[in-house]
Amino acid sequence: MRSENYFSANPDLRFYFETVIDWDRLVPLYAEADDAAQPAATAGTWRDVLDVAGDYVGRQISARAADVDRLGTPHRGNIKVSPPMAENLRGLAEMGVMGLALPREYGGEGMPFVVNAAVIEMLARADAATMVQYAFYSSPATMILRFGSDAQKHRWVPRLASGEIIGWVAMTEPEAGSDVGNVSTSATRQADGTWRITGRKQFISSGNGQVGVLLARAVPGSRGLDGLALFLVPRCIPDAETGERENFEVERAEEKVCINGSPTCALAFADSYAEILGSPGDGWHQITTFMNEARIAVGIQACGVAHASLVAAQDYAAQRVQMKKPIREHPLVAEMLLDMETTVAGLRALWMESAVAYDLVRGLDLRLRDLSEVDPERPTITARKRRLELYLRELTPLVKYFGAEEAIRVARLGMQVFGGYGVIKDYDVERFLRDSLILPIYEGTSQIQSLMATKDLLKAIVRNPRSLLIPGGHSPWLASARFDGEMGRLYRGALRSFSAAVSWLMVDLGRQVGPRRAAQLMRGGSAELDDNDLAYVLLSAERLTQMLAHLHIGRLLAQQAQRWPERRPLAERFLRRASDVCRLNTRRIMRGDRDALEAIQQWHTATAS
Ligand SMILES: Cc1cc2nc3c(=O)[nH]c(=O)nc-3n(C[C@H](O)[C@H](O)[C@H](O)COP(=O)(O)OP(=O)(O)OC[C@H]3O[C@@H](n4cnc5c(N)ncnc54)[C@H](O)[C@@H]3O)c2cc1C
Repeated sequence: MRSENYFSANPDLRFYFETVIDWDRLVPLYAEADDAAQPAATAGTWRDVLDVAGDYVGRQISARAADVDRLGTPHRGNIKVSPPMAENLRGLAEMGVMGLALPREYGGEGMPFVVNAAVIEMLARADAATMVQYAFYSSPATMILRFGSDAQKHRWVPRLASGEIIGWVAMTEPEAGSDVGNVSTSATRQADGTWRITGRKQFISSGNGQVGVLLARAVPGSRGLDGLALFLVPRCIPDAETGERENFEVERAEEKVCINGSPTCALAFADSYAEILGSPGDGWHQITTFMNEARIAVGIQACGVAHASLVAAQDYAAQRVQMKKPIREHPLVAEMLLDMETTVAGLRALWMESAVAYDLVRGLDLRLRDLSEVDPERPTITARKRRLELYLRELTPLVKYFGAEEAIRVARLGMQVFGGYGVIKDYDVERFLRDSLILPIYEGTSQIQSLMATKDLLKAIVRNPRSLLIPGGHSPWLASARFDGEMGRLYRGALRSFSAAVSWLMVDLGRQVGPRRAAQLMRGGSAELDDNDLAYVLLSAERLTQMLAHLHIGRLLAQQAQRWPERRPLAERFLRRASDVCRLNTRRIMRGDRDALEAIQQWHTATAS
């Protein structure tokens, strides 16, 4: 792996922090009084932090990555991370970056998430497993801060922020993966107001950590997403005889093919002590706040893994000679390298936009908390925050979907550039490909992301059917973007293809549900669509999501190119691809191929008879 400063030696990452991000908007929302008045200087200090972190991550953590992967973790007994992983985490804690975006009063640094996000990308480039462990300092802390009592915050957050302890967040169960509503772990209230947890959690990253946030059923007899609650669960609790005892069992850490250095634990709870975060019934809403943040983080992680593959392939292709020239001079290899580079730059544009939108929402929220109910600024800030929330909601499944799927594709291309050496364990590219495989699975699979994006698209159309008349009309951001020349032509063409697919799907849906119901729906009537009505639209979800992700990235890169002309070749390259993706997916959607739906019918019939 290249040993270099992963921040200062990465011009595309630096470009955002030095040129693109509007610090005048962001700094006042996060910095304290004096620093807030000097956005450029404050942003400079934050860049310095990235420079120091980039040096450590790019020279030391990257050097230990192969050992972290090879040593993994024990799978039974005393589950703990390997010595090189422990060294990585100790180094990060000493540098003070565990709680970069946590508030200062709880031991964090109070920086915007986008700074933390750059550390996530750099860590994922060096070692995806270390990045996963890193995330489980701030993730549980954020949930405790958001929903915990003062006592819970003071007890746990400073220890997580300093890196003294690590935590976990547990939703998944053996029978409840994508189907969170199937959670059966139960929580029972005690006379003293504490709770007892019974059940099992599966695939819990860093589940051997000292404190966790756990989703359980707190209302007996409740079903689905109702009646859930979040609980704070310490690993150890006081014991009259021994002083301290284990509160639950860490049964095992799974043997995986990816992120081997991060223990993925099966946990068993039997009347385990817990404290509630919030109230019974709030759990689903609470956990979605975690999932939305985590999904952006996985998109950022994907960028790091893809960037690692890109750099490895670039270096190898420059020095490996075949047929008397470096292989990068063979057009088919050059095309792979350019494809990888375009993908990584596109993904970075998308995650940056999402991270900044997230920071603006969070910052405006903090501002609103400081304002009185009658402050004249309140309505304007509330409206701005609402608009940004909608924007973020639109982007989040796209960052996760595009990042995860494309990181795997890029990692595979990286392996291909290495030829036979790519599958040899001495080279890092096989690890990048293995590690990339987790990205479309955790924090909501790719299929779940695409269903979310598609259902939101449908809701926007049902709310405002006239939006179908405008290309990209469901999204003010896509519909209002205008570009000149070749970029404009490509963008408009891609957007028109997408809109043609959506209109076709709506007409097809109208045919399925019948004219009366379709008219009722389009008038915003009381009729509700169910998944049966929507079967073909939902079957098209991944194709629609691919188009949406490409359109948004093309839009963002074209906006950059308008301000910084040196970005134009990249923007045009990406838009050409967006145009192809939209045309191809539209053609596939309009073909109306229902084979999968018919297969389901046959399986049903076969099972019933
Ligand atoms: C290494 C690792 C770390 C993890 N860390 C954590 C953690 O820290 N905390 C935690 O709570 N969980 C964690 N998970 C669990 C992870 O979030 C789940 O594995 C994931 O949500 C998928 O659930 P599942 O594995 O049960 O698959 P399933 O839900 O059974 O899905 C199987 C397949 O069916 C598809 N599918 C399911 N439902 C639908 C649908 N309605 N429409 C279309 N397709 C569908 C899925 O996309 C997938 O392709 C981790 C998992 C792994 C492997």
